[in-house]
Amino acid sequence: MSSTRLMVSYFDGKTSRAHEVVMWLDQGMLQLSSAQLIRQVALSQVDWAERTRHGARLAHFADGGTVQALDDKAWDSWMHEQGLGTPLAVRAHQSWRWSMLATTVLLMVAALGYWWGLPMAARAIAPMIPSAVSHEMSTATLRAMDDQWLHPSQLAPDEQNRWRARLMPALEVGRAGHRPAALATPRITLEFRQARIGPNAFALPDGSIVITDELIELLKDREDVLIGVLGHEAGHVALRHGLRGLIQAGLLSVAGSVAFGDFSGVLAGAPALLGHLAYSRDFEREADEAAIALMRANHLRPSAMAVFFQRLREYRSKRGEFDSGLGIAFSSHPADAERIARFQAADLGTDAPQSSSTTSL
Ligand SMILES: [Zn+2]
Repeated sequence: MSSTRLMVSYFDGKTSRAHEVVMWLDQGMLQLSSAQLIRQVALSQVDWAERTRHGARLAHFADGGTVQALDDKAWDSWMHEQGLGTPLAVRAHQSWRWSMLATTVLLMVAALGYWWGLPMAARAIAPMIPSAVSHEMSTATLRAMDDQWLHPSQLAPDEQNRWRARLMPALEVGRAGHRPAALATPRITLEFRQARIGPNAFALPDGSIVITDELIELLKDREDVLIGVLGHEAGHVALRHGLRGLIQAGLLSVAGSVAFGDFSGVLAGAPALLGHLAYSRDFEREADEAAIALMRANHLRPSAMAVFFQRLREYRSKRGEFDSGLGIAFSSHPADAERIARFQAADLGTDAPQSSSTTSL
């Protein structure tokens, strides 16, 4: 089947004489025909020359012949119809509009990658980090924190164990609860420290939850609230918020480590990063939802968490503000009021019995 015909100028490469010929494609051959000549050129012998935006449309033959457009528009549409000519990239850079569009698209992809793709990638990569690596990372982080602003707990070892015995069963109940994703924490260990950061708790990726003596002092009569705090921290562990935060802070190095099985770079950077990692608002909300799920699973009222925020506020007003931006007790975001409202709203769906000690706001 032969193609549409196009009028072009033909130069044989030996003389400067132009021949007006009809050009078409037939069975992989370029056909040229006029009253004076008939030529066939294999397509493999044709070089469809790149052109500038305002340059001439022409094609060179291996034997030195050339065809040149008589009508640029007709040439372009014929070329397009035949699927011939310069690749898209060449055509694209002939137009500043294309360049602008390409730049805009690139910027949008980069922005999407940052806001959406990076967290997605972090979520996918975090489970690939071996637990031995996450354990080593956590140990190193805790060691660095001990050096900088944690002190040994003033609670006697017996008392620490008594708290473990009281609190750990609640976490076990959560693991068998209704919300496995947020509560399926692999292994939780409770660590006690005295701290400049006041009443607080924070979790490390390997499931170590550090509770400050000040938090125990603040909530020693409210085991239900302590369980809520633990549920929040266990949620951070189960949902791998720490690892995901680390990956988002330096995706490439972690991705490279996963690919090559060398985690030394991650381990070197992790303690410094983890120690200063403020979780995103989304992570905090998810952790609060884990707290609600754990409290419900233990037949506790989530609204009891208001006690924590109330007492924390009193503690801070008495002792002077100290907000480290770390752990469960930071007030910057989400705002305490929003979190309290979330815990109180959760009561509407609870089947928990009325608490004997009413919560104050
Ligand atoms: Zn948190």
